[in-house]
Amino acid sequence: MYWENDVETKDRGSLEAFQLLRFNETVKIAQKSPYYHTLFIDIGLDSDGIDSLESIKNIPFTTKDDLRENWPYGLLAVPKDEVIRMHASSGTTGRATVVFHTAHDIQAWTNVLARCVYMAGMRKGDVFQNMMSYGLFTGGLGFHYAAEKVGALVIPAGAGNSKRQIQLMRDFDTTVIHIIPSYALHLSRVFEELNVDPRNDTKLRIAFIGAEPHSEKMRKKIEEIYGIKAFNSYGLSEMNGPGVSFECPYQNGMHIWEDHYFVEIIDPHTLKPVSEGEEGELVLTTLMREGMPIIRYRTKDLTRIIPGQCACGRTHRRIDRIKGRTDDMMIVKGVNIFPIQIEKKLMEIPGVGTNFVIILEREGYDDMMIVKAEVQNELFAGDAKQRESLRKRIIDELRTDILITPKVELVGPGSLPSTEGKALRVIDNRKE
Ligand code: ADP
Ligand code: ZN
Repeated sequence: MYWENDVETKDRGSLEAFQLLRFNETVKIAQKSPYYHTLFIDIGLDSDGIDSLESIKNIPFTTKDDLRENWPYGLLAVPKDEVIRMHASSGTTGRATVVFHTAHDIQAWTNVLARCVYMAGMRKGDVFQNMMSYGLFTGGLGFHYAAEKVGALVIPAGAGNSKRQIQLMRDFDTTVIHIIPSYALHLSRVFEELNVDPRNDTKLRIAFIGAEPHSEKMRKKIEEIYGIKAFNSYGLSEMNGPGVSFECPYQNGMHIWEDHYFVEIIDPHTLKPVSEGEEGELVLTTLMREGMPIIRYRTKDLTRIIPGQCACGRTHRRIDRIKGRTDDMMIVKGVNIFPIQIEKKLMEIPGVGTNFVIILEREGYDDMMIVKAEVQNELFAGDAKQRESLRKRIIDELRTDILITPKVELVGPGSLPSTEGKALRVIDNRKE
């Protein structure tokens, strides 16, 4: 049931003792990088390190801007010839950041991600179709190595080319897929076009879904359409990529591997820790990395620690589904709104299709939100009255939830742009 029994179920005391040990080891390694070398001198942190986990909170945060300003080698802590691979973020919010890995780092990452996929139920004998981009992006190669490690047969399909994906699934009896959730919904329409039923005409049983925020409703929709279990997978390239945090079979929050990452949740405004269970920004420190350790990295991702123990027996704490990034937040008519709130509502309403986009405009001095939502085929082709009542229902439900009244336009299935990468949910035309 566990990939690494002794680590996954380690008692909290030993786990924390291990973290302190690894943290001090990490300080020693990080000191060799130009960036941390200077920083540690400035704050008077020497290679003796610290004597309690609590003291980590006195060390300054590292931000994406720090990585950008010290791009590309400023945080590299080993000679360049020790590096065997580099990866980069997908650059969703600006210039991509680069991370360098030694052979040890790749092994450690592979192992912790193998722990995740094993936890979700992938085994030797499974056929794993990896539908993530195999470039600098970490979702491709990361999962590839981990799946091989547990002994699955890996189909390195890469992203896109929907018809070929479906063909591969059918020809080789794919049982497990790794897919971006918005693309999973897009792909379901291609299944429909081809008259193939993913529930009956494939052997699919598990999906790993991640890389972008998605709601519980969206997961349920994917599970229903494909007749599978879908497991939430969270990671970011700065922290290796996938493998940071992953759902277990109880699907109630994602275990975050605390032997690899020291976890903090802070209030993004005051930068102080929030109390256990409260929502805030996730801050992570690598504990196992030697090529490019990163200390107290502000992920900008909003989540919370789920209090209490998980029934699966793992002692590593769980984080809640990511609500979005601090910079995803829209301020419309003074109200703070996250795209996932809109997604959640839309997915609850029968008749709404698989894709949507939010457009923000300025009318005079006023903000206006326009939600364009695809509707299901029957509805689009059917009765205009029914469509109008759906449109009104969407407006009403959104208004109750986000407290402003959006304009809603219903469009036909497949008419909004979709990508094989992370979905683009918001177009903000207010910035002249
Ligand atoms: P980029 O910042 O350019 O998108 P990455 O490719 O490293 O770079 O993506 C990491 C980010 O993707 C995370 O910080 C988070 O915002 C988002 N993300 C990854 N997995 C999930 C997930 N399961 N749920 C929500 N958001 C996720
Ligand atoms: Zn669990």
